[in-house]
Amino acid sequence: MKLPGLADVHVHLREPGDVHKETIRSGTEAALAGGFTTLLAMPNTHPPLVTLAEFRKAQRRASETALCDVFHFAGGSADHLAELPALGQEAVGLKIYMDQTYGPLRVDTLAALMACFKHWPPGKPIAVHAEGKNVAVAIGLAAAFNRHVHICHVSRKDEITLIAHAKQRGIQVTCEVTPHHLFLSELDARQFGPRANVRPALASQTDVEALWAHLDTVIDCIATDHAPHTLAEKLGPDAPPGMPGLETALPLMLTAVSEGRLTLERLVALMAVNPRRIYGLPAQPDTWVEVDPDDRYTISDEGLHTKSGWSPFSGRTVRGRVRRVVLRGREVFADGVVHPPYAFHSE
Ligand SMILES: [Zn+2]
Repeated sequence: MKLPGLADVHVHLREPGDVHKETIRSGTEAALAGGFTTLLAMPNTHPPLVTLAEFRKAQRRASETALCDVFHFAGGSADHLAELPALGQEAVGLKIYMDQTYGPLRVDTLAALMACFKHWPPGKPIAVHAEGKNVAVAIGLAAAFNRHVHICHVSRKDEITLIAHAKQRGIQVTCEVTPHHLFLSELDARQFGPRANVRPALASQTDVEALWAHLDTVIDCIATDHAPHTLAEKLGPDAPPGMPGLETALPLMLTAVSEGRLTLERLVALMAVNPRRIYGLPAQPDTWVEVDPDDRYTISDEGLHTKSGWSPFSGRTVRGRVRRVVLRGREVFADGVVHPPYAFHSE
C-alpha cells in the first residue's frame, strides 16, 4: 500500500548542542524509517534558534547532513524581539514556549507574548507550547491579533474542548496531538517510571478518550514531538522530559486504522495533508511511502535509527510496517536500511 511522504511538524533534532542524544542526520534517518519525508525542527537547541545567525547555521547544517527535508522554527524570546521580522522571512513558523519544558526558551509575561505577536510577520503560524489555562491565553492572542496560532501536543479533555469552541467561532487556531498522548496514559507512566517523563505529562484515560473522540473533527495533525534523550539520562537523576517517536508513530496509527479507530484517509490527512497545508510546505514530487498494513511485529529498542536508542512503545505489538520510502524518485529506505541519497561530507 502506498501513502504520501509524511510530514512531522514537531521534532527535536538536538543539533546544535546535544548531539549525543540525536543529530540532524540520525534524526532524519529515524524519520525515513518511520515514513516521514519532511520534518519541522524545534528551536530549543543549545544555543537556541533565536537569532538569524544561529538559525542560518542550523539550516546550513541541515542542508549538509539531513536525509529528508528539514525546516526550522524560530524561537520566541523576550531578549531577541528585534530578530523576529527577519527570522519570519526564513523560518517555517515561530515557536513560543509558554510553559516550562526542556531547554532554555520560555516567554512567560503577557507583555513579552504580545511583543512576539507584534514582531512576527503575518502569514506564518505561531506554534505554542501551552498547557491548561495557557491554551486560553494562546487562543485569546490569536483572536486579538488575528493571527494563526497552532497549539502543540494537546493532551487534555478541557484543552481540546476549548479549541473546538474557538474553531467554531472562526478563530484561526489549529492543533496537533502526539501518539504518546493517544496511546499512553498516566497508568503507563506509573509502570514506565522516569522514561515516561514528558511535557505535557501523560494524562488520564478520560483525557485520552477525549482526544480520540476529536480525532476526526478538531485535531488537525498527528505530530510526534520526537524528543530524544539517552536511556542513561532518562534513568538518572533529574530525568529530562521527552521521548523519541519518529519510528513508531505510523505503525501505531496504522494499527488504529486496522482496529477501525480511524480511516486510512483520515490518517493521511492528519500526517501528510494537513501538516503541509498548515505550514505551507512545498510539495515533494515522486515521493511516497510503501507500507505493509498487515505485517504484525513487536516494537523493540533493537534496530531503531534514533541515536537515543529506545522507545516508550517497546514490547507493544503493532500491525503495519514501513517497507520502502522513495524521496524525489530515489529509494532512501528499504526493509530496515536507510540509503543516503548523496555522499556526505566527512564530519
Ligand atoms: Zn516539543
